[in-house]
Formats: sequence, structure tokens, C-alpha cells
Amino acid sequence: MKISLPVENHQPLVALQGFLKSLLDNQIVDVILTPMRTPGGAVTPALVSDPALLEHADPLAPVLPVNAATWAGKVSLRKPHPRLAAVLRSCEARALVELTKMAQASLEDLLVVAIDCAGTYTPATYLNKQANSNAPLWVDLYASIRQQSEFTNADLRPACQICEQPVYENAPIRILLLESDLEQAIWIEIQDELGERLGWQGSAANGHSPAIEAYIASRKQARDQAFTEIRARLEGDEGITGVFAACIRCHNCMTVCPICYCKTCVFKSHVFDHDPMKYLEWARQKGAQRMPPDTMLFHLTRQNHMALSCVGCGMCTDACPSELPVGLVFRAVAERLQQTFEYLPGRNVEEPLPLVTFKADEWTEVGE
Ligand code: SF4
Ligand code: SF4
Ligand code: SF4
Repeated sequence: MKISLPVENHQPLVALQGFLKSLLDNQIVDVILTPMRTPGGAVTPALVSDPALLEHADPLAPVLPVNAATWAGKVSLRKPHPRLAAVLRSCEARALVELTKMAQASLEDLLVVAIDCAGTYTPATYLNKQANSNAPLWVDLYASIRQQSEFTNADLRPACQICEQPVYENAPIRILLLESDLEQAIWIEIQDELGERLGWQGSAANGHSPAIEAYIASRKQARDQAFTEIRARLEGDEGITGVFAACIRCHNCMTVCPICYCKTCVFKSHVFDHDPMKYLEWARQKGAQRMPPDTMLFHLTRQNHMALSCVGCGMCTDACPSELPVGLVFRAVAERLQQTFEYLPGRNVEEPLPLVTFKADEWTEVGE
């Protein structure tokens, strides 16, 4: 059903906080994972069990410090686990689906509350912009999309500027911010049974508004242009070694990636703790050995392991101290791979991972 959550005194955040509180008050869940405002103004995911503390919840704040799918997975996986509601943006919800398929999360007692996303800033940009703004930063972001007045914002995280999936459709609860007049009411799509338990009566849900379609079309255009530019670099003289030339193999991109879940990554193991004479051997073979070594092997291995499940959240780009376009490279490579297997990560939890699915008649052209 689709319900209209009334907004009083032009305060949609208070209305949303009240809705989340009703999930705890009605014992739908035991705890809620949601972005929370800290006393210093930073916004970070937190696990909230006390309904009174939800007055600090801020799912509207346009900032993405971590991909919270990782933490939804950790709280949901092993039994016994609490009944959890997780307030997630689209790239987080899609990562959670992929983690579920990889047995790193469980949707059994996990209620995804998917919020439409108008883009996010890095934590530093968010704090800086918010300190210089009289209004919450989400006000202009959502209004400009709804009024179709402005779709480009160079301050947003690079991944958000090319994100063509700001809306996640397969969640039991969807907060339809992009089609709501946030001054008046917030549209929420909710499973009938859940809506009835919360005492709502609603109407049948309908599709995207024209504003969302235009917003997605503009993001697709930006994405395609970014793909064209990075592919020209990857396939030109610079090549992938040139693009990653400044990589210091700090592993930040891997640590923050929601899909890279291995607890003992081979690149952090003794396998890559080479003997001293091995370094000398390499230096003599080539005349000089780049240090740290193995950077390309690291990126190619990581792509090999997770490109099919890359959801384009851009956490890797944000975390790179060398400011390399890691997420864009991964997305550009992943797009072709995902198209080959007709696989869209995060689309459907029932859709099997291509790499664990054997089809006898697949890729027959390879080797011909
Ligand atoms: S990548 Fe997309 S869903 Fe994720 S924060 Fe950016 S705009 Fe939102
Ligand atoms: S975060 Fe940047 S510098 Fe660090 S390993 Fe990844 S690409 Fe290399
Ligand atoms: S590789 Fe980067 S963009 Fe892709 S899922 Fe991991 S962190 Fe997100």
C-alpha cells in the first residue's frame, strides 16, 4: 500500500523520525540502523534501540560516511540476531542484497527501509557546507530534483554524480522522498501486512513521477560520459597502469568496499610478504622495482573477485588518499561484465550470482 505521512510545521525530518519510532513502538523490530546526528554535527550510522533517541536520526542528511550494508550484514548474519530495520540508500540496499547472496548478511529478520536518494557529500564536504548554510542541505537537493530545475552538483561525491539508481524498488518499506512535496507530506510504500500492523490504510502504489525519470536520465548521461572518458584513458597510451600509477596500495579502497568482505585478504597475508632477496631479484630483472609492488595485481584481483557485484557506491573513490578514480574504473569495467551476464547487482535477492551458476551453453564464443 502507499500511504501519505503528514508533515507538520514544515518539518519532514520530524515526521520521518516519528515513522521510525512507530517501528520500535509497535515492536515491528528490536532495533533500527539509521543515520544519526552526533553532537558535533557529523552524521553516522547508529543502531538505535531507544525510541526517544530517534529525535537525532537524520536519514535526510546528504552524506555517506560508510556503506551501511556492511553493518546491516554483521548485525543480521549469525543467530541469534535481533529483528532489525535498516534505513538504507539505494547503493546500500543493493550492496546488502549482494552480501546476502554471498552469505554475509541475512534478510530473514531484516526490514529494509529504502530512502530515495538525491545524492550525498563526503563527510568533510558535508560538514563544511552545512556549517555555511542556514537550512539543512537536503532541502535544495530534493527541491531541485522535484522541480526539475537543477540536476548537476559538482560538490556531490563523484559516484553520486553518475548514479542512475537513486531509487531502490525491492524493499518492504520505501520512503518516496523524490516524489514527495516534503513541506506537505511524505509518500511511503509499505507492504500491506506491515502497514496494517502500524494502523495505516493506504491506496495502491503507482510508478515513478516524471521528475524522477528526468533525474535518472540526466544521471545516465553523466555516467555514460564518465565511462567514455575513463575508457579512453584505460584503453589509450596511459592504460590501467597509468591510471593507477599513484596507487600506494594502502588497501583503503578494499577496506571500505561493502562487497570486499574477506576477513583475511590474500594481499594482507604472508603471500605478499616477500623475501628480501625476491625484491633484489625483481630490481635486477627490470633494473628498478616499483615500491610498493603488486599494485596492479591487487586491483586486477579485486576486480576479478567483485566486479560483478560492484554497486557503484563510490566508497573506494572517497577513501583513496591518491585521489584515484577507483570507483569509476571499477564501474566502467563492471558494466561490461554485468551486461555480458545480464546481471544487475542488487536487483533481486533471488537472482543467482553468475560466478556460482554453471550454464553449459554460456559464452560459447570464447575459445572459438
Ligand atoms: S551512489 Fe546513488 S544511491 Fe548511493 S549515495 Fe550516491 S546517489 Fe545515493
Ligand atoms: S585507496 Fe587508492 S592508493 Fe589505496 S590501494 Fe586503493 S587505489 Fe591504491
Ligand atoms: S568497488 Fe567501489 S564502487 Fe564498487 S562496490 Fe566497492 S566501494 Fe562501491
